[in-house]
Parts: sequence; structure tokens; C-alpha cells
Amino acid sequence: MYDVIIIGSGAGGSAMAFELADSNKKILVIERGDYVPLEKENWDSIEVFERNRYTTTDTWLDKDGKEFRPGMHYNVGGNTKFYGSALFRLREDDFGEIKHFGGTSPAWPITYKDLQPYYLEVEKLFCVHGLRGSDPTEPPETQPYPLPPLPHEPRIKEVFDQLTAYGLHPFYLPVGVNLNPHKTANSPYILDRFDGFPDAAERKADAQSCALSKALEHPNVELMTNAKVLKLITDESGQKITGVLVDHLGEQITLEAGLFVLSAGAINSAALLLDSANKNFPTGLANHSDQVGRNYMFHQNTALIALYTEPNPTRFGKTFGINDFYRAARGYEFPLGHIQMLGKSDEHQISADSPVPAPGFTFEIMAKHAVDFWLTSEDLPDPDNRVTVENGKMKLSYTPNNERGHELLKEELVKALKASGKFQSFFFKGYYFSKGIGLASPAHQNGTTRMGTDSTKSVVDTFCKAHDLENLYIVDGGFFVSSGAVNPALTIIAMALRVGMHLKNKVLK
Ligand SMILES: Cc1cc2nc3c(=O)[nH]c(=O)nc-3n(C[C@H](O)[C@H](O)[C@H](O)COP(=O)(O)OP(=O)(O)OC[C@H]3O[C@@H](n4cnc5c(N)ncnc54)[C@H](O)[C@@H]3O)c2cc1C
Repeated sequence: MYDVIIIGSGAGGSAMAFELADSNKKILVIERGDYVPLEKENWDSIEVFERNRYTTTDTWLDKDGKEFRPGMHYNVGGNTKFYGSALFRLREDDFGEIKHFGGTSPAWPITYKDLQPYYLEVEKLFCVHGLRGSDPTEPPETQPYPLPPLPHEPRIKEVFDQLTAYGLHPFYLPVGVNLNPHKTANSPYILDRFDGFPDAAERKADAQSCALSKALEHPNVELMTNAKVLKLITDESGQKITGVLVDHLGEQITLEAGLFVLSAGAINSAALLLDSANKNFPTGLANHSDQVGRNYMFHQNTALIALYTEPNPTRFGKTFGINDFYRAARGYEFPLGHIQMLGKSDEHQISADSPVPAPGFTFEIMAKHAVDFWLTSEDLPDPDNRVTVENGKMKLSYTPNNERGHELLKEELVKALKASGKFQSFFFKGYYFSKGIGLASPAHQNGTTRMGTDSTKSVVDTFCKAHDLENLYIVDGGFFVSSGAVNPALTIIAMALRVGMHLKNKVLK
């Protein structure tokens, strides 16, 4: 019997384990995957992008019942082992209502101030480099980033300067990087691949290296890997979770605890709740509101590769972002979104994303010149965009919304690039190509167990407790009420620390 069972060891679960570790309570983290193996393939783009070596082989259904293989990573550290480590706070106004081209982004029941101290704590824990005050949309904070901004490599500095001269206000990207990891202090690796690649050198600040490993130094914290939770079990009254049914290496076991934290990721947490329906909750556990699985969001995302005339020998290009279009500004009545640099692409990534086939050497030339951008715009919560489970199979129904702002964001970036730099004219129609990120890449998944004060319209309260159950907290991307247009992980981790602190002070005493 444990005091606390945490389901999932990703951003939310690892941060929760970290926060609860010094409580002296008996804590078990249950993770369906294993540790990501440390191997040379970690940095091999053919293995990572073409052969999908590290993503699940499970398939899901889209809204039309068509099967697809999602880019989900089931392993210790969750999706943060593969993330880009761009660690942004939501903007202060993201917590309020915002009008968009496609409708209204609703207000949260908490404000930026509720998360602010935890954001700061996570920035320390996850070694965030940045320059406070350089981002024009940044929320209030009196303390500097814990670490100085990562310097731009020369070619990236040129692009930064060109875009500044054009009239934009690029700023240092907040990135979580542990430049001196204890484990690999003498390793020969330098900062290189981030987005989509695990970092065996542990310089990328992920949830395992920054939070879980520290929690596991405490004798009261255990991790069970290769253990997939199949069902949450309640007592007769349906008020309380008593245990979880787990498939551990093919054997089914039941594990019991006094308190449960569900951190399986926005999609899997919703699916697990739906799969745990019982006589008290015939449409899914914690689902008296009928909101479990609904309001799925994952942003409008585009990778845009600019093919300049100048070569780009950069190793690590993720050092600036642009938020000039984050709000309604520069002649626009509504927000467009956020732009940041991506890790430097190579010929294999470009070939995988290319809109047309071409001989290999073409991709090599392109990669030598490419400068990589990532564009994110807000998608709006829609109850019909949802996770369901049909005959045991996950279904992700999603119809894009609020697309106009994203299109304009792309146009604005292309206009700025064209006006500020020189481009290869012989590739395709000119100087860039881009790829929208579809349903099969649910990297920024959020919103399926939304937070609210009205238990008929939301799944969890302002401390992520399920309205319907006295001992279930859901702490992963699911609590998001709106998606904002910056990357979600810092907010998930900050919320986990906030809820963990609340549990220690008020619930687990
Ligand atoms: C390629 C990529 C790049 C990204 N880049 C960024 C970035 O730069 N910045 C940023 O902020 N975000 C980024 N993200 C998103 C970020 O990784 C996620 O927002 C974050 O990891 C979500 O945290 P979570 O706790 O909700 O879920 P996850 O981190 O996905 O963790 C969920 C965990 O639960 C486990 N699990 C699932 N089901 C079960 C079950 N039934 N039983 C037991 N365990 C289970 C999973 O295996 C996983 O370990 C990126 C994601 C990807 C994939």
C-alpha cells in the first residue's frame, strides 16, 4: 500500500514526484515505458525521423476512423525526452479571455500570479537560459533567468540582426540546458540535436534528468517501469479511488494507495478515465460533467525551412524567438502567434518533410543552407475535438479551428525573411518550404480534462483535483483551459509543483 501513486513519468508526473519526494510519504511512479536506451541512434535522424525508432507502434483512429501511428513517446521522462526544451511561461493575458479570428479563447479560473512562483522554481530546476526583458510579451517577473542566454552561433546572429533591422523584435529563446550535467561532465558531446531527439549526454533539461532522478534519490520514492495502468478502480460509493490495475510485463497486478495523481499525458489520461467507467461513472471516471476527453487542443504548428543563399554551418540554432505577432498588433485585429528557431535540420529531416521528391544531393545542398523556424498559433477549445475509446481503440477526433491567424503568421514571417535576406531561387518556387504539423504529431496535446470552478463544465478544480473524486488529481497537459501559443511544458511542470506543494501542505499531512 502506497501513500501516493503517480501514473506517468513525463513532465507532470516527474515534477510531481520531485515535489512530493521530501514528504516522507511512500510514493510509487508507474510508467508504461522503459528508460530510453543510451545508444548512438539517439542522434541519428534516419533512425529518429524515418524509422520512428522511439515512438509507439500503437495505432489510433482519426475522426473518420482512419488509422494512424501517433508520434507518442512512452518512456521514462515521457515526451520531454524528445522535446525541444523551449521553456516558456504562458503570457499574463493568456489566462484571460482573448478574441481570435476563429472565436474566443476562454479565461482560466486561475491567474498568472498563481503560477508565477512555480514558473521561477521550474526555470531553476530545468536550467533555463534566457534574458528577462528581451521578449516584448513576457509576463511580469522581477528575478532574472537563472542562467544567461545561450549565445547565437554566427549565422543565427546574422539572421537575428537582419530580422531586427527589418523591424521585428527577436529575443533570446528561453531554453532548458544543463551545460554541466553531473552524469556526463566529461562527455565529448556538444550542444547539437534537440527537437525530436533524446539527449544521451543529458544536456537537454528533460523531466527525467531534472526532476525524476532527483526524486528517486529519496528512499521513499519508487519507479516501476514497463507497467501500463489499465484501469482506475473506485470503492463502492464511487467517491474514492482505491487502486490501479496494471499490466506489468504481461502480468496483471493491482496496486493500492491513498492518493492518486494521473499524469499520463492529456490524451492517455482522458482515455484511461474513459476506460475506467463503472456503475457510478457509466460514461467514464470523473466524467459527471461529460467533459473528459473534450476540448482537445494541440496548437496550429508549422515547421518552416528558409533556404538562404549563405550556408548555415550552425550546430545549435535554437537561440531566438519572435513574439511581435503574439497579440493583436501591427495592424491585426486578432493575435497571429509565436515564432521560434528550431534545431538545425539535416538532409534526412529535410527529405522526410520535403513536399516533392528529389535526389539525395539536393537535400544535402538544402540542408547546408537551411535556417529552421517553428511557428505556433493558438487553437481554440471545441467540445467536439475529443479523445474517445472505441472497442478498446483510441480515437482522436479533431477539426482544425482558428487557422486564419496561423496563415497570416506564416505570411508575415515569409515577408520578413524575403525583405531581410538573400535566398536560393532554384529550389521549388523560391526561398522556403513549410510543413503543417498534423494529428499524428500530438506533441503539444492539452485540454482534455479542463480546469474550472463549475463541476458541471470542467473535470478538475483549481488544484487539479477531479471534481467527482476525493483522492484523484490529474496533472498533465489536460488541465489547460486554453492553449496559448507558446510551448506547454513549463506550465505543466509549474502546475505540478503548485499542486504538489498543495498536497504536502493541505492533504498529505
Ligand atoms: C518532438 C517534441 C518536441 C517538443 N518540444 C517542446 C518544447 O520545446 N517545449 C515545450 O514546452 N514542450 C515541447 N513538447 C511538448 C512536451 O514534451 C509536452 O508538453 C510534455 O511532455 C507533456 O507532459 P505530460 O506530463 O502531459 O505528458 P508526457 O510528458 O507525455 O508524459 C506522460 C507519461 O505517461 C506515460 N503513460 C501514458 N499512459 C500510461 C499508462 N496507461 N500507464 C502508465 N504510464 C502511462 C507515458 O509513457 C509518459 O511517460 C514537445 C514534444 C515533442 C514530442
